[in-house]
Amino acid sequence: MKFASRLVSYDPAPGDRFRPIATPIYQTATFEQEHVDSFGEYDYSRSGNPTRTVLEKHLALLENGTRGFCFSSGMAAISSVTKLLRSGDEILADSDLYGGTCRLFSKVLDRGGIVARYANATDPESFEQQMTPATRLIHVESPTNPLLRVVDLRRIADLAHAHGALLCVDNSAMSPYLQNPLDLGADIVLHSATKFLCGHHDVTAGVVVVKDEKLAEQIYFVQNAEGNALAPFDCFLLLRGMKTLKLRVDCQQRNARKIAQFLAGHRDIKRVYFPGLSEDPGYDLQRSQARGPGSVMSFTTGSVELSKAIAESAELFRITVSFGSVNSSISLPGTMSHASVPPEVLAHRELPLDLVRISVGIEDEEDLVADLDHAIHEASARALVATGAEFLR
Ligand code: PLP
Repeated sequence: MKFASRLVSYDPAPGDRFRPIATPIYQTATFEQEHVDSFGEYDYSRSGNPTRTVLEKHLALLENGTRGFCFSSGMAAISSVTKLLRSGDEILADSDLYGGTCRLFSKVLDRGGIVARYANATDPESFEQQMTPATRLIHVESPTNPLLRVVDLRRIADLAHAHGALLCVDNSAMSPYLQNPLDLGADIVLHSATKFLCGHHDVTAGVVVVKDEKLAEQIYFVQNAEGNALAPFDCFLLLRGMKTLKLRVDCQQRNARKIAQFLAGHRDIKRVYFPGLSEDPGYDLQRSQARGPGSVMSFTTGSVELSKAIAESAELFRITVSFGSVNSSISLPGTMSHASVPPEVLAHRELPLDLVRISVGIEDEEDLVADLDHAIHEASARALVATGAEFLR
């Protein structure tokens, strides 16, 4: 079956005699047991819930894995993966990483004696040099966030395995529709399902999918022990949102390509970061490992003030953190999504302060281009007035 069919063709309510087409919300904390010494399929929703099971099985299939796990947020999913490590173990992560992930790695895991180090995974040779015998986990996003660099996932998977480490790929920016890291050799794929999987910015959720049964048992153990699984109503919302994943992403990508071309040709824009542009350094690699460039991109203007003014002048592009929703959004990662990167980590990473990140939604493409065109025009005019005032002073 093709992806569009797989998205909607699954058993929504196994064993339900009413045969509903949408998965019921099993809003219950406990399940009555027939005997005191033997349990049914479910006993307590932290350990398992039928709404969550449908979602987790569906996600495992979409990522070509064997088992999936849903968490209360993307960060809860990432945190659960790090519980595979012990004191003295190290994580080697790509340096262009979501700010919250850096904060978890560098400011929380250090309390348990786990060391996180960062290196540029788009340069596999120098990345490999940063591995030590203690490196147990490699963590990357591809394309990276917010510089949209493409990491050679097959190569990094080989490198991880050669050193006895696991590769975990944060696939939030792609979704299983555009990229399946497990097929490229990754051991663990995870998502902030808050992004494309949900698609409507109305659920906070996280997903982990693996192929290996032993790994699955360990992740399940953590999910049950820590109690950070996704609640039934949120599972329902995610199941509902995912049915339109392909429709949304197809439209978002079409709009994004148009916008990238518009920005690349604009005289006030310095550089566009988007692996869907043929001149982008990651273009060929992205085509070799993913089925599209996605709909998140960044650009620089050469001036923080100008970038801020563009974000504030746009109307359809609303200033919000996060990405992947049907609504377009605009942000300055330096002061928003990546403000939580610890200063000592920031010192070793490239994050231009004039970088603007946009996530393209499903609005009309002409309206979106017109909105950005108007915002850039307004912002440039404001900048010109400000410079003139400065000059007269
Ligand atoms: N991974 C990426 C790439 C993200 O951008 C984010 C959040 O923005 C997360 C993980 C964390 O996900 P959540 O906000 O659902 O906890």
